[in-house]
Amino acid sequence: MKSLQTFDAFAVGETIFVASVHQKEIPTQCPDCLGEKQWAISMPSGVSRIIACPRCDGGKRHWLFPMRHERTLEVKEAKVSEVSIRCRKAHNSEKIHTGIDYSTEPYIGHVSHDRAHGSREAALVDGKRMLAADAKQEDERWREEREKVATRSGQDIVAALQAAANESVRDLQRNIAKLKEQMMEAIRYPTLYGPKEVRAYPSATPRITEQTMADWLGNLLSEANIEGWSEQELHEAMCSCV
Ligand SMILES: [Zn+2]
Repeated sequence: MKSLQTFDAFAVGETIFVASVHQKEIPTQCPDCLGEKQWAISMPSGVSRIIACPRCDGGKRHWLFPMRHERTLEVKEAKVSEVSIRCRKAHNSEKIHTGIDYSTEPYIGHVSHDRAHGSREAALVDGKRMLAADAKQEDERWREEREKVATRSGQDIVAALQAAANESVRDLQRNIAKLKEQMMEAIRYPTLYGPKEVRAYPSATPRITEQTMADWLGNLLSEANIEGWSEQELHEAMCSCV
């Protein structure tokens, strides 16, 4: 049997003051675009492109890592209702940690001795220290994240450009599918769809002429918006041969 060491402790019935830090999440400024919502990518050769910031999705996402917080300090007061000694073996070590905990009345939590103070002023000093430590840690996390931006931006730019390219390929595929559908309808139901000459009088059967055919195709092609795509790209969008 070992004799217990002695501790200075608050006694049952004594008043203790305990500081606590409350924090509220606040929307974060995007660490990548710093609120600009977009990135301007330019190359010395003169090519430039504006893309939506991938991290905040062009400013649509407001809650981003690392979170920022607004902090307030509160000092609570209560009487000690019970004092307990806690002995615990440290994880992965033979060392025994011994400490004192207080139960409180009215209940303000289970308070460890190092958080309990004999005066409101002492608790306030403790609280300000905790608040400053939390804020410092958050600032450090923010700074580290800003440093990571530089190493990660290359990959992000590639991914964002790829996503933009995929999106325009999908647009092209949609437009070409619609174009095919319209042409098929015109072949299947020539009197309902397709290039018809304006009827000279209501009972006349509409006729397809070279001019109406050219106008009709011209309209369809401009709606499909396929200008600027290479023959190879158009082939890939239209054909399932590969
Ligand atoms: Zn952003």
